[in-house]
Amino acid sequence: MRAARGAARTARGWPQEAAVRMLHNNLDPEVAERPDDLVVYGGTGKAARDWRSFDAIVRTLTGLGDDETMLVQSGRPVGVFRTHEWAPRVLIANSNLVGDWATWPEFRRLEKLGLTMYGQMTAGSWIYIGTQGILQGTYETFAAVAAKRFGDTLAGTLTLTAGCGGMGGAQPLAVTMNGGACLIVDVDPSRLARRVEHRYLDTVAPSLDEAVALVTAAKRERRALSVGVVGNAATVFPELLRRGLEIDIVTDQTSAHDPLAYLPEGVELGDAGDYAAAKPEEFTGRARASMAKHVEAMVGFLDAGAEVFDYGNSLRGEAQLGGYTRAFAFPGFVPAYIRPLFCEGKGPFRWAALSGDPADIAATDRAVLDLFPENESLARWIRLAGERVAFQGLPARICWLGYGERDRAGVRFNEMVAAGELSAPVVIGRDHLDCGSVASPYRETEAMADGSDAIADWPLLNALVNTASGASWVSIHHGGGVGIGRSIHAGQVCVADGTALAGQKIERVLTNDPGMGVIRHADAGYELATEVARERGVRVPMTSE
Ligand code: NAD
Repeated sequence: MRAARGAARTARGWPQEAAVRMLHNNLDPEVAERPDDLVVYGGTGKAARDWRSFDAIVRTLTGLGDDETMLVQSGRPVGVFRTHEWAPRVLIANSNLVGDWATWPEFRRLEKLGLTMYGQMTAGSWIYIGTQGILQGTYETFAAVAAKRFGDTLAGTLTLTAGCGGMGGAQPLAVTMNGGACLIVDVDPSRLARRVEHRYLDTVAPSLDEAVALVTAAKRERRALSVGVVGNAATVFPELLRRGLEIDIVTDQTSAHDPLAYLPEGVELGDAGDYAAAKPEEFTGRARASMAKHVEAMVGFLDAGAEVFDYGNSLRGEAQLGGYTRAFAFPGFVPAYIRPLFCEGKGPFRWAALSGDPADIAATDRAVLDLFPENESLARWIRLAGERVAFQGLPARICWLGYGERDRAGVRFNEMVAAGELSAPVVIGRDHLDCGSVASPYRETEAMADGSDAIADWPLLNALVNTASGASWVSIHHGGGVGIGRSIHAGQVCVADGTALAGQKIERVLTNDPGMGVIRHADAGYELATEVARERGVRVPMTSE
């Protein structure tokens, strides 16, 4: 499976064509973790319910008119309605369940009946761009850690983490881009090998002893180096703590959000799938017990003075369910490092070149540098990404932009398509992990100033306003990132096809979408967000006017 490339389309309009290509791109073996099962990333995050649904989505999109909208219910196309040309061509609702039923066992029961699918965030909304998607956020997070504790660089520090999958695989490169040494543990050697192949990980050591020797030398010599080692985090983390290895930063990105995707100690990797399917409750209990050990070791490193944070996978919550009482001794990464960015409407803006030509991304990189010459960390990121990021599937780029920036970039890209500076249209979207698009009390909305962590009206308003503003496709999901019952979030994608209409839509969507981040944080009492609203003219009736 590979997305079509180039400037000729088979669908009736570019937004429809873009959706077809991005769905295919999500399942390109270069991009997806398990494409045969339609699994894109994040444990079991899928692009379509089943292959029949996939075929029906492609068929329907290809014939869809410019005044029609296809509805997708958890990965299955369920209707087409006449709308209008400003309306999205696709509206998606994935994995949503009514509160009392929002548990993994109930979700799995319904999934087994063929009634739902797990859409993660950008898997079921067709805007996953491979590990780069998370790379910049991870890079920013480690840069914030460096600024907070280590004099703006990770040189001379050692980071310990686990989980080298679709998202977690960004960690070693983000650490080395910040100058540090990184040891990453994964139970699955093929995941580590894949990250080496894609240049996210420097090397895999044949044993823990050799891994420790390599990273200790790199730390001592202030060299950037990432080393993978095969092992279970629940075993390796306590072992490293016991050895007294000097570790400066500890985090984790195993797929802990789903206890059936976290390998318990004592279970062979090859047996995990059958065991989890046959005895989900027993497996869950063992996974949680292992997570409790894993987190207990992380708290041990915290007590020893390391910078420790949860990287948005519910590990603390699962460890607590596994019986460990100090699981929340360390914070989540959003309150620790990211929230001030959210107050400015900053978040993971991304785009992909439908031409398939890396030269188009190079041209958009230059456009971003020209648009924001004063932003040094953005310039450093764009340069490093150009040098070090290997594209997976369609060439794509991500960078964090805020309110008043995303619209300028999007409009510029559309002008470039119109002027022939790019060889085909560009798709512009973002992660659901954004400033105003998610309610997730263990992650994006943990420890909000006004206690509004679990208020889920915001992502719904976000999807509605993006629909009203002219996005090409809009989605509302449940359970992404942190698992069923723990989050509600929304996504949007716009297509820059070079038309004047696309330019108008992009200008509105890319203003209003990050504007949701500003108003959400102003409403929660963040002074920075209120200042941004006042300065940049975001109307917040009861706060800034
Ligand atoms: P993935 O399924 O692609 O990878 C998970 C990895 O964890 C796999 O390589 C697996 O082998 C490994 N693993 C499982 N159990 C292990 C154990 N006991 N010890 C060591 N390794 C183990 O998932 P992903 O896409 O990389 O996502 C990882 C987690 O991060 C998920 O929970 C996801 O929801 C979350 N996430 C966080 C962010 C963020 O911004 N912080 C964004 C997206 C997803």
